[in-house]
Amino acid sequence: MKYYSTKNKNQPFSFKEVVIKGLPDDNGLFMPETFPNFEDDFFEGLENMPLDKIATEVIYPFVKEDIPEEVLKDICKKAFNFEVPLIEVKPNFYSMELYHGPTLAFKDFGARFMAGCLGYFASQNEREVNILAATSGDTGGAVAAGFYKTKGVKVTILYPKGKVSELQERQLTTLGENITALEVDGTFDDCQKLVKKAFLDGELNEKINLSSANSINVARLLPQSVYYFYAWSRLKSAGKKVVFAVPSGNFGNITGGLFAKMMGLPIENFVAATNVNKVVPDYLQEGQFIPKPSIQTVSNAMDVGNPSNFERLMSIFNKNWQLTRNVIKGYYYTDEETLEAIRHVFNKYGYILDPHGAVGYKALSSYINGKSSTIGVLLETAHPIKFAEHVEESIGKKLEVPDGISELYEKDIAKIPMSKSYNEFKDYLLNKSGVKIK
Ligand SMILES: *Cc1c(COP(=O)(O)O)cnc(C)c1O
Repeated sequence: MKYYSTKNKNQPFSFKEVVIKGLPDDNGLFMPETFPNFEDDFFEGLENMPLDKIATEVIYPFVKEDIPEEVLKDICKKAFNFEVPLIEVKPNFYSMELYHGPTLAFKDFGARFMAGCLGYFASQNEREVNILAATSGDTGGAVAAGFYKTKGVKVTILYPKGKVSELQERQLTTLGENITALEVDGTFDDCQKLVKKAFLDGELNEKINLSSANSINVARLLPQSVYYFYAWSRLKSAGKKVVFAVPSGNFGNITGGLFAKMMGLPIENFVAATNVNKVVPDYLQEGQFIPKPSIQTVSNAMDVGNPSNFERLMSIFNKNWQLTRNVIKGYYYTDEETLEAIRHVFNKYGYILDPHGAVGYKALSSYINGKSSTIGVLLETAHPIKFAEHVEESIGKKLEVPDGISELYEKDIAKIPMSKSYNEFKDYLLNKSGVKIK
């Protein structure tokens, strides 16, 4: 499989190149040249296949020139090693809980798979790979946990001091080993600037082998296709149309689903659910894409005013608005509606949603509205405990704390304080790598 930038169809890249590079130099995003088309017998055999086996089958055509099948099997076994329960919330309405990974959010799928790929590529290298990642909270934790103890890879996570939750900080600072957390006296944007500057610094790149763990990496999208196949295979015997509702911010999760559809998975529609950061629902409604500054909400992982994967949606649908809105149905909700949905679903069905899932729940309920020939699957993207305050207030009771979380509160924290000065950051990178500056 070859990959191309959405902005240049003339220069092909290999899977290995796009994973290591992350982003093309021309402001586009990498896309596969084509999609494998799976035959009927593949789909017939899916219902008894475990998740990690489905992952290997689905992903192999995309990587086979660079990763041997046996290695891919092993990467998928390690990346897809947690439960993905499909809970029937009400008749023909399922919640697929994607939050049973180490950081309790669906980003574990992408981060763990990408870590497996980069770890494999690093093992072919003489030089240690240094991953740099700036985080506003969630992504960094998933990346750190994904790369934990990967040989030949060091990870440096930059996070803004005082601007992540205590749980998120613990997820970043209690791992140790090959993971280092830098607490930057600044904002998320300052963290991102430091990382960007490091990648452009010729002297630094000569001395150490830098790589990014960017959220728009192709290696994060491919594993996000897998659970669509999984859910469909477990529900297909009902003989109904299957629709997925995806709580969306940067639209990477829904892009994974669109990849699955391109591979032949018969998904009727995607329900794109957002909070009031609704530039994509607006586009679907009106035909104009107008990026806006983001607005803070209770479903804060979706507070995105300029979704980075919109470029990929346009590439998939050839910039055809009508085609796009035939497949993707957009809905958006306010915080008030979101919290009310958490309360309603708990009172009526005894099921606890997180704020992101609650946005998706409302959207899917509106879409289905009496369509008895349809099964809806809500992608529940975060564990309610991550948003305990809002959830507990809505349902009027305390949440149980999962095992992994209470352990986090017993571990020691290790972090390195850092100003937002680039020279201090560069000095740190060179010295910890054993290379002295000047
Ligand atoms: C990142 C995130 C989302 C949004 O996913 P995108 O791929 O950016 O659309 C939704 N919910 C949670 C909990 C997330 O962490």
